[in-house]
Amino acid sequence: MSTTTRDRWDVVDPATEQVITTVDLASLDETDAAIERAHTAYEAWRDVAPGDRARLLRAFARVVEAHVDELAELEISNAGHTVGNARWEADQVARVLEYYAGTPERQFGRQIPVPGGVDVTFHEPVGVVGIIVPWNFPMLIASWGFAPALAAGCTVVLKPAELTPLSALRLAELAREAGLPEGVFTVLPGRGPVVGERFVTHPLVRKVTFTGSTKVGKQVLAGCAEQVKRCTLELGGKSANIVFADADVAAAAAAAPGGVFDNAGQDCCARSRILVQNSVREEFLERFAAAVDAFVVADPRSDDTQMGPLISAGQRDRVRGYLDGADVAFTGSAPDGPGFWVPPTVVLARSTQEAVWREEVFGPVVAVLGFDDEAEAVALANDSDYGLSGSIFTRDVGRALRVARGVQAGNLSVNSHSSVRYWTPFGGYKQSGLGRELGPDAADAFTETKNVFISQS
Ligand code: NAD
Repeated sequence: MSTTTRDRWDVVDPATEQVITTVDLASLDETDAAIERAHTAYEAWRDVAPGDRARLLRAFARVVEAHVDELAELEISNAGHTVGNARWEADQVARVLEYYAGTPERQFGRQIPVPGGVDVTFHEPVGVVGIIVPWNFPMLIASWGFAPALAAGCTVVLKPAELTPLSALRLAELAREAGLPEGVFTVLPGRGPVVGERFVTHPLVRKVTFTGSTKVGKQVLAGCAEQVKRCTLELGGKSANIVFADADVAAAAAAAPGGVFDNAGQDCCARSRILVQNSVREEFLERFAAAVDAFVVADPRSDDTQMGPLISAGQRDRVRGYLDGADVAFTGSAPDGPGFWVPPTVVLARSTQEAVWREEVFGPVVAVLGFDDEAEAVALANDSDYGLSGSIFTRDVGRALRVARGVQAGNLSVNSHSSVRYWTPFGGYKQSGLGRELGPDAADAFTETKNVFISQS
């Protein structure tokens, strides 16, 4: 009789603090077995004809579409996402699959002019890909990895965050329902230092795609170096929202809450630093206060809710820690009673050395600082170890271009807070990451380029 006890995780609804279900966590042996199955499945999957692989991905998209409400419900109850966001996210998974279903039939190599023969390149799949996902956008971030990886001809083992395994587990079932062969897409709920780390150390995993904190991302990168394993990192952020005096200040203030408090600020692209030109600072703050006051923080299942709870008690306490001693200008509201709530909170930064200005809070907290001119705004925006996103509000097109080119970040938006669209590349400068996901070239990141020369003599 076995004496080992099964490692389990109680999955909690962050809006009620109730346990929804209990999930078995994968052991090291189970992880190894799943990686070996994925490796076996890879031999056949890489040889599936491009049109057939495309059809299977389209079929997967259709099945996801038919389950949007169910997947959304999992994200509401497991991650506290608002119903509007959760439905959009589930639908996006289908859109991302559909987009990358176009890849297998279009993954062109090149024919390169050379003397003495013909030279061609091929994009060959790397093999088994390990995808490590955080808890803030569980199914959306999973799809940014698995859709292009599967399209490129790789098989996937995916580890959701401990806190939020439910939507990924359901997606793996839906993939089988759509006809993807066994072992092509496997979801392994488990602990980071067990399952996630095994993706890094197991030699049959040929690439790791990691989304999460910069701290763990650095460990993953160091581990991958041992085998010169391919590695893409999407890490933290401390993005700036720069509001110039020549902007439509009312529009900038109205948009600012959505730019930082969406998903309760648990968004790597959250515009958690607002830089506002001093000549309009008072006007902006007055309008921003009204917008924050009107921001609806409530039961995520209500249609008009704009912000739900934080993911866990630990995250709530961590976020509150940043407010100790901070100069809080104003806050919005949040429900009383059960749930991990923190109201939207606006802090006036006293200096650029304050933790609330420098560190990623990953909660509904934004720090505001004034600036005098364009050069100072760019310098302040760039005074960060991070470089993921940023926004620029101005009516001056020349300034918009200069500042967009001057800010060291992977994703800038002008007069909007748009960050992630599956049509366009997404990723970070500096310690916000390595490599890019999404966009037309994402599948290439799951391939090796092979060059073949054919002599004509
Ligand atoms: P985290 O780094 O603690 O965990 C992320 C994932 O890594 C989880 O699945 C976790 O189980 C796993 N993990 C933990 N230790 C590991 C190890 N030793 N080896 C391998 N895997 C391990 O981050 P989190 O708290 O889940 O997520 C929040 C962070 O993610 C924030 O810092 C946020 O900025 C970042 N994030 C970045 C992006 C982006 O695209 N840049 C997107 C979402 C979240």
